[in-house]
Amino acid sequence: MSQHPEDDSEALAERKMRFLFHLRSHGVTDPRVLAAMERIDRGEFVRGHFEDRAYDDTPLPIQCGQTISQPSVVGLMTQALNPAPRDKVLEIGTGSGYQAAVLSGLCRRVYTVERHRPLVSEAEALFQRLRLSNITVRLADGSYGLPEQAPFDRIIVTAAAEDPPGPLLAQLKIGGIMVVPVGQSDAVQTLIRVNRTDTGFEYHELRQVRFVPLVEGLGAG
Ligand code: SAH
Repeated sequence: MSQHPEDDSEALAERKMRFLFHLRSHGVTDPRVLAAMERIDRGEFVRGHFEDRAYDDTPLPIQCGQTISQPSVVGLMTQALNPAPRDKVLEIGTGSGYQAAVLSGLCRRVYTVERHRPLVSEAEALFQRLRLSNITVRLADGSYGLPEQAPFDRIIVTAAAEDPPGPLLAQLKIGGIMVVPVGQSDAVQTLIRVNRTDTGFEYHELRQVRFVPLVEGLGAG
């Protein structure tokens, strides 16, 4: 705590400005995405002694041995997903809830699926506290998508699969976009964008990334 409260808010504003500048210089240029990331405070999604690193462009550990993604990667994935205001979006891998919170300001409805129960409970409580009322969190194995809410305009997978899971491709609308890291789980993976057209699927490679693996079944505890 500094002596003058305005010092704190000035420091915060300065940190936020640097954060946004950094995102821009790393290719996050869509003004809607930048505005959504400006509104969501990453500090809310990072706990304990990593809290003061919330504005660093680095992944950080969260509960259940998982990670909150690097902000520039969240920005680039959101930009590639290009959600429209009327869209229904599915996220696989809620984790801290940060990516879902960023998406909530850019589309009509976000469904986010997580296999670890403690992460589901924490994310639900946080969304309620932040009044992000268009996000629904589900405890499930996201490899199967969310059939009861399908089809989706957009699907974002924030854990690495060897290939885009078939059920997720099937739950994507024609004209829809999916963003997913693919490759061996213990190596660097390739982030790809899948566009579903009238006749099939088009695949575009975006960049190298490193995500925790998409794991089958529910987590213990
Ligand atoms: N999007 C998150 C980061 C995700 S880390 C954020 O913004 O913080 C990847 C998450 O995917 C982890 O929480 C992991 O538990 C979850 N996950 C892995 N395999 C899964 C599966 N089959 N179904 C649902 N969630 C899964």
